[in-house]
Amino acid sequence: ATTATTYVYDFAEGHKGLVDLLGGKGANLAEMTRLGLPVPPGFTITTEACRAYLRTGAEPDTLHAQVSAHLDALERRMGRRLGQGDDPLLVSVRSGAKFSMPGMMDTVLNIGLTDASVTALARQAGDERFAWDSYRRLIQMFGRTVLGIEGDAFEDLIDDARRAAGAATDVELTADQLRALVERFKDVVRVRTGRGFPQDPREQLDLAVRAVFDSWNGDRARLYRRQERIPHDLGTAVSVVAMVFGNLGPDSGTGVAFTRDPATGHQGVYGDYLANAQGEDVVAGIRNTVPLADLATADPACYAQLLRTMEVLENHYRDLCDIEFTIERGTLWILQTRVGKRTAAAAFRIAVQLLDQGLIDEREALRRVSGGQLARLMFPRFATEAAGDVAGERLATGIGASPGAAVGAAVFDSATAVARAAAGERVILVRRETNPDDLDGMLAAQGILTARGGKTSHAAVVARGMGTTCVCGAEELRVDPAARTLTTADGTVVAEGEVISIDGTTGAVHRGEVPVVPSAVVEYFEGTAPADTDDLVAAVDRLMTCADRVRRLDVRANADTADDAARARRFGAAGIGLCRTEHMFLGERRTLVERLILAESDDEREAALAALLPLQRDDFTDLFAAMDGLPVTVRLLDPPLHEFLPDLTDLSVRVALAHDVHDARLLTAVRRLHERNPMLGLRGVRLGLLVPGLFTMQVRAIAEAAARRGAAGGAPRPEIMIPLVGTVQELEIVREEAERVVAEVERDHGTRLDIPLGTMIELPRAALTAGQIAESADFFSFGTNDLTQTVWGFSRDDVEASFFGAYLEKGIFGVSPFETIDADGVGALVTTAIAAGRAARPGLKLGVCGEHGGDPESVHFFHAAGLDYVSCSPFRIPIARLEAGRAAA
Ligand code: ADP
Ligand code: MG
Ligand code: MG
Repeated sequence: ATTATTYVYDFAEGHKGLVDLLGGKGANLAEMTRLGLPVPPGFTITTEACRAYLRTGAEPDTLHAQVSAHLDALERRMGRRLGQGDDPLLVSVRSGAKFSMPGMMDTVLNIGLTDASVTALARQAGDERFAWDSYRRLIQMFGRTVLGIEGDAFEDLIDDARRAAGAATDVELTADQLRALVERFKDVVRVRTGRGFPQDPREQLDLAVRAVFDSWNGDRARLYRRQERIPHDLGTAVSVVAMVFGNLGPDSGTGVAFTRDPATGHQGVYGDYLANAQGEDVVAGIRNTVPLADLATADPACYAQLLRTMEVLENHYRDLCDIEFTIERGTLWILQTRVGKRTAAAAFRIAVQLLDQGLIDEREALRRVSGGQLARLMFPRFATEAAGDVAGERLATGIGASPGAAVGAAVFDSATAVARAAAGERVILVRRETNPDDLDGMLAAQGILTARGGKTSHAAVVARGMGTTCVCGAEELRVDPAARTLTTADGTVVAEGEVISIDGTTGAVHRGEVPVVPSAVVEYFEGTAPADTDDLVAAVDRLMTCADRVRRLDVRANADTADDAARARRFGAAGIGLCRTEHMFLGERRTLVERLILAESDDEREAALAALLPLQRDDFTDLFAAMDGLPVTVRLLDPPLHEFLPDLTDLSVRVALAHDVHDARLLTAVRRLHERNPMLGLRGVRLGLLVPGLFTMQVRAIAEAAARRGAAGGAPRPEIMIPLVGTVQELEIVREEAERVVAEVERDHGTRLDIPLGTMIELPRAALTAGQIAESADFFSFGTNDLTQTVWGFSRDDVEASFFGAYLEKGIFGVSPFETIDADGVGALVTTAIAAGRAARPGLKLGVCGEHGGDPESVHFFHAAGLDYVSCSPFRIPIARLEAGRAAA
């Protein structure tokens, strides 16, 4: 027989490298145990056991025995038995997946309490109240998560008990009142499940473990994973931990600590503490917490020990850590740590601080930030200098928990947030405090505002994870979800649908729409603010420098105008990778295009082209000036001609109503050019081959602009790019003609022009015959938008609105292939074409233009594929530079 799979690891056996198997929580509990930190003993059931259970619907055969063996060891070590005897051992049963999913799965505390052991616990602790409080918590948590009874059934009974006792919070309930509450809770269980609350501790344990396994597939957890792009097949581990008690009186308590401020990244002591409470109370925002620093006076010894522990953890993990701890009658216990979620600003600041401290090197610092975070720092912010007057009516100030400037209609529940957002409205979700059921509302909202809870509250943690603006703990506000209003301290009422603005940096809440200004980071990229504006800008500057030093990919811009080109240059572009010429045919020039299309003789056509030529030439002259010394890839006209003509229906109506000769002629042309599938029709190189003189005119304009710039002392570097080539023959014809025109311009201007001519690779056939095409192309630029359309057979203009939602929902893909390159399909063609192109023409220049060029994940793909450059919109350039650096780091 083969040796049985190990499904259970003692904390002393694991380490942080086993995160796949033990989950983040389990692996880090093991790691902290190894570091000698005060972690209560316990063991972890692996994700592998969970996967087996989810696959087969039953726990693996040997699991029960393995748990028994570890439980025995735990009991021997503690000298106590689970839920038995004079001094019963209690445990928690905790979920914990590879990636942190805060509050999305289940945990049950106080397992082992029964009608018998609750009395023993009371006697042992010398505290009746504590024992009954723990028992009611167990039945409540177990009832909800294991037995599936909705939480309100218990919450309502607590409210009743509180009201009857005239108690403001549940800590004021006496032992007798809690005992009575336990009886009522047990009644709820009996009525709802048809049997009494389980009195066998081991049965409690096994059922709780199974419930945690099941919680992996709960709605909340699934939604969160989709949002965070966490795979659905990982499963969760389950940690069983000896209980320690923060609810043993005023010298006990529980808290959360961060080694740095997760909102700003600044160093210091950050966290929340709640005396006489058990774990969940802190994050649930049920009672108001106190700042962690208050612990320095309340319990100096534990506080000092906590600070030392935080230092040990930060140096060990070399990163911001967050920590859950409990103090039981003056003894500190560490219950969890993980590398903490942080805002974008904090990520940049912390990476640079750790770099300065010598804890990490430059490459590691780059890996600690992301293009997505940089994008967030480039969002506009509220015009703070004018906060007093322009900023609208100030309603309150809360805690800036997740930065950003959010404006939207106030809504008071998750469903309304989802509905209004789906109708295209911007909303701010306003809650007393959020809980995991609010997740879809939080996802739909521009911003989140809560009246209760600190920086570690559910709202704050989840918002930071999602990068959504959040103000929490605005305690001056009274939120009334039933009336759908919020009321300020001075009695101002804001009703559902009214626009409010929240500032996730300062915590300010305003009525109305506050104007926004560019972020300091954008001003720095624009060159209007120096790098030493503040420590955040300095951190961005530092990491951009690192990225530029290590990256191999060049970053070019998609830019069609001199203004865009100039901005792109300021943002660090190494040239233009895609200049679309179609906009140069719109506006007033539309009539010239019409003349070109309507031309009935060569003379008429040539006259139209001759009128367009100088306009095109001026466009290019400006562009080459803005990008002087850097390459500018000009794509010849790509879209179908009918895009420049009036709409067929409109025009038909017009002609029918008033018979106009010109319109009638136009209508004939529109009909002639009308196509069922214009994106697969007469466009790109096909247009160039079929409309005599069109490409010739464009090539001439480019060449003449270059000659002029050269004569004026500039260094123009145009490159001509032919779109939608499917076969080398198309390219050969265009090339021959282009070379003839360029030679003519050279002759006329008495100058030498060096204008590379290349092609887009955006059809599967082009990718598959890239070797042949390379014979005639000086460069390739992958047009991954069209390539994605044609490889998948997706019409980009239609599918995103029609069935992509369902596809994402079903997990067919985790993200739209138009957003992040489909590495397996489209990417495989890119790789094939690169190999064939380079084999046919060593030194062939390779780039990508299209949306993917600015998408972080895709940039990593293009780096690995060996492209020379990516090209993206000007605002994405810093993001692409950073990601190109990260890819090489
Ligand atoms: P989550 O992943 O939602 O944070 P946890 O498993 O960390 O869930 O547990 C919820 C709360 O219960 C936390 O505050 C945690 O510190 C506390 N807790 C968990 N296990 C124990 C224990 N053995 N003793 C005391 N408190 C615990
Ligand atoms: Mg936790
Ligand atoms: Mg295209």
